[in-house]
Amino acid sequence: MTDSPLRLYNSLTRRLETFTPIHPGAARVYSCGPTVYNYPHIGNMRAYVFADVLGRALRSKGYELTHVINITDVGHLTDDGDAGEDKLEKAAVGGSARDIARHYTEAYWADFRALNCREPAHWTVATAYVPQMIEFAKRIAEKHCYELPSGLYFDTSTVPDYGRLARAATGEGESRIDPVDGKRNAADFAIWRRTPPGETRQMEWDSPWGRGAPGWHLECSVMSGEVLGFPFDIHTGGIDHREIHHPNEIAQNQAHCGSADPGAAIWMHNNFLVDRTGKMSKSAGEFLRLQTLIDRGYHPLAYRMMCLQAHYRSELEFTWEGLGAALTRLKRMVMGTSKFLSRENYSASFDQGAKPAFRREILNGIDQALSDDLNTPMALTIVERLLLPSSSIEPFERWGVVKELDQIFGLRLFDLVRADLRIRPKSATITETEIEAQLVRRKEARSARDFATSDAIRDELAARGVEVMDGDPLEWEWKLS
Ligand code: AMP
Ligand code: ZN
Repeated sequence: MTDSPLRLYNSLTRRLETFTPIHPGAARVYSCGPTVYNYPHIGNMRAYVFADVLGRALRSKGYELTHVINITDVGHLTDDGDAGEDKLEKAAVGGSARDIARHYTEAYWADFRALNCREPAHWTVATAYVPQMIEFAKRIAEKHCYELPSGLYFDTSTVPDYGRLARAATGEGESRIDPVDGKRNAADFAIWRRTPPGETRQMEWDSPWGRGAPGWHLECSVMSGEVLGFPFDIHTGGIDHREIHHPNEIAQNQAHCGSADPGAAIWMHNNFLVDRTGKMSKSAGEFLRLQTLIDRGYHPLAYRMMCLQAHYRSELEFTWEGLGAALTRLKRMVMGTSKFLSRENYSASFDQGAKPAFRREILNGIDQALSDDLNTPMALTIVERLLLPSSSIEPFERWGVVKELDQIFGLRLFDLVRADLRIRPKSATITETEIEAQLVRRKEARSARDFATSDAIRDELAARGVEVMDGDPLEWEWKLS
């Protein structure tokens, strides 16, 4: 696509900045991945839809993308400070931490694919990087760390401007950190957590600081630095990471590189998905999984649409009505697109270069919206205008443009068919063939002006959860509810 300069909001400077790749033509992005002790909730998945859109936008602007997402299978404690237990260790009581991690990693990947997120170039798994973590820690230990009985700690006063990211974000910073006896500064954090004497952990390794496990923050610094090399271009995560996790990564990166460089040029954070009770979180117990939405009959890409409809820096409230509205919007787009596919040779005509000026205009509009800190809500409205039946633009011209745009939105507008987008709860017992047969009978009754039978069929269907939709503008004759 074309060439508005890409402007991204950098949480570190609290400003929109023009993206200037460190290596010309390349974009190297690291996204904090899931902690695999439980299923991801749809809030977590918002973080990956955001990272996916960022990656797609970078590619569309011609950058060669290297994207890394990690899998945290050790080290993330039940508390963001250093007082809690390892989340995986806790979830694996009486079982195997490795099996738990594998199960939830698979579940996360299933959601990731269902949302049509593109595979990153690398999935880095924390437990596969422990030797590198020990090497990293050895390198910074003397100048930046100190030992306590519970492990090796990072002294945050040894790096310039510790917590700049958190303070920039909240005006306070460092507020949620629990004290550990002997810490030099409240914000100091564990690099290596020694296994307490007399205990054994499922996940522990030998190190110069005793047998134990790495700190969570160390993992991301090591995996991003190992795979992408410092400094790299963009680091992403949810806004909860602005407060502790990312400031700590920055401190480690600075210590490792021996400079004030934070390790990544731009730090981007998606805002929360919330529901009426507040931020969706795994530790709160009740949360919505993508599978819950699917079981209720919604296509997963309706949730992707819901995410794209909001700017990634805005809070997004999840409601079932909102999901329904996103589904309807997706349906309209799919139907608009399928009209182009029903005519042959559009693609051939398009490829012969018809009306390049028009094509440029639309693509430039989308490019401008996305270049403005990934303004997906605005970009979607441009696609919609293109799909309007009243649009004076020839269908074959639109075909190629929509095809190109769908590479960025990832809504699979050309693969989905109407039936995919019908709400079909898992609990429904009636089949589509039965419904269709009843509707044929009803049509016949109506043409014979036998309204009693026609109404009876309608009521029978309603009793089995099928709502007949006469005169629906999207031409849906029925839906399951
Ligand atoms: P976790 O598996 O808890 O380490 O989180 C995975 C990703 O989801 C991180 O980038 C978090 O910042 C992000 N995240 C957690 N909760 C939410 C939420 N409610 N809305 C959006 N992103 C979230
Ligand atoms: Zn991380």
